[in-house]
Amino acid sequence: MEHKIPKGTFDILPYGTEDTWRLTDLWQYVEDVIRSISCEYGYREIRTPIYEMTGLFDRGVGETSDIVTKEMFTFEDKGGRSITLRPEGTSSVMRAFIENRLSNVGAVHKLFYTGPMFRYERPQSGRYRQHHQFGIEAIGNGSAMQDAEVIDLLCQFYQRLGLKNLKVHVNSVGDLESRTNFKAALLKYLSPHFAELSEDSKTRFEKNPLRILDSKDPKDKEIVKGAPSILDHLTPDAKEHFETLCQCLEKIKIPYVIDDRIVRGLDYYNKTVFEVLTGDLGAQNTIGAGGRFDGLISTFGGPNIPAVGFATGLERVIQVMIAQKVAIPNPKRPLVYFIPMGDAAKEACFSLATQCRHQKIGADIELNSKKMQTAIQNGVRIEATYCVIIGSEELEKKYVQLKNLQTREQREVKLDALIPTLKELTDV
Ligand code: ATP
Ligand code: MG
Repeated sequence: MEHKIPKGTFDILPYGTEDTWRLTDLWQYVEDVIRSISCEYGYREIRTPIYEMTGLFDRGVGETSDIVTKEMFTFEDKGGRSITLRPEGTSSVMRAFIENRLSNVGAVHKLFYTGPMFRYERPQSGRYRQHHQFGIEAIGNGSAMQDAEVIDLLCQFYQRLGLKNLKVHVNSVGDLESRTNFKAALLKYLSPHFAELSEDSKTRFEKNPLRILDSKDPKDKEIVKGAPSILDHLTPDAKEHFETLCQCLEKIKIPYVIDDRIVRGLDYYNKTVFEVLTGDLGAQNTIGAGGRFDGLISTFGGPNIPAVGFATGLERVIQVMIAQKVAIPNPKRPLVYFIPMGDAAKEACFSLATQCRHQKIGADIELNSKKMQTAIQNGVRIEATYCVIIGSEELEKKYVQLKNLQTREQREVKLDALIPTLKELTDV
């Protein structure tokens, strides 16, 4: 075959793949849940372009983050501008929020997005170059209760999808003052271990030492075990915020673990950060994550308004659904499959199928096969519930054969009673 799919990407198909996580039915179901749950929590959808000017991410995600240093799909357009395929959603949403002056419309803005994100990563299970995220951003409220709502929405999303055995880890990365205090303590602790750190962490030591805390390198992990905790360096304000968050989570009965090693890869977080972990995906065990980013909007030149949000990767969510054998509701299929026997019947079937569709009764028609058995198999393959068979005798005597493809029961229905009968069967 001459053309191959780019590395790290995948097709989502209606059928024809053994990778059940790539089946469209699952994706559509998850997307339906995203829309309904967002609406129930008062979030409205925002859609931004798939690419942005590169500078947005340098600034928004942070120049020392893995995303900006290693993972961006950046290219020059024909006008010589540097363009980047979005690696995450928050920067774009904040850009759109400021550029469209949404802050003039009200004080609080609750937005959600879903769509593809692009990261130049080493492809492996749960890690792709094009992946999809569902994310929300609650802008304009700085309270810990808002953080709890965001975490609750994420947990409810997973729960609605039927996911089990997830762990919510929460931490506070404090405010700037907390982090300045903590950085000094952390550097003091790490200095004698500098030579043993991984190359990545040696670079982070200079540029962003907090990131050493969530290094995946086994040796770094060992060193970090004895490191001081950021929770012991919070300012009174940051401490109170974190305590209130924990109380809120307890009140709404969300089990959580305090994990002072979470700092998150993106540079814009302050105060609350959190991750949701699964034991069902091997190495790629974070399915969703987020936090508060009170300074980001003003960094972008917008008003000084607080915000908090999360993003969750849909590939990983769907793969956990498969691993946990979660059942999904029956997807919609055409109700009826018309099978004409002979050319005259073909015209009648075509007309009936068209009438059905115009009345919102799902219908399809066999236009290829002359063999009844093949035609019935095709009806089964498209998962129609009934087939309607019309031959020359039926045509002459103005009735049809209505066959239930599941039970195989067959009955005769008068031609002019067919549409009302089907309508009753579909509940439209
Ligand atoms: P990781 O530590 O796994 O690299 P991350 O910190 O880079 O994750 P975020 O930037 O927080 O991830 O993105 C939010 C979510 O998007 C992740 O929790 C994960 O579920 C998903 N995700 C991130 N990168 C990928 C990818 N390359 N392929 C598939 N899903 C991804
Ligand atoms: Mg990553």
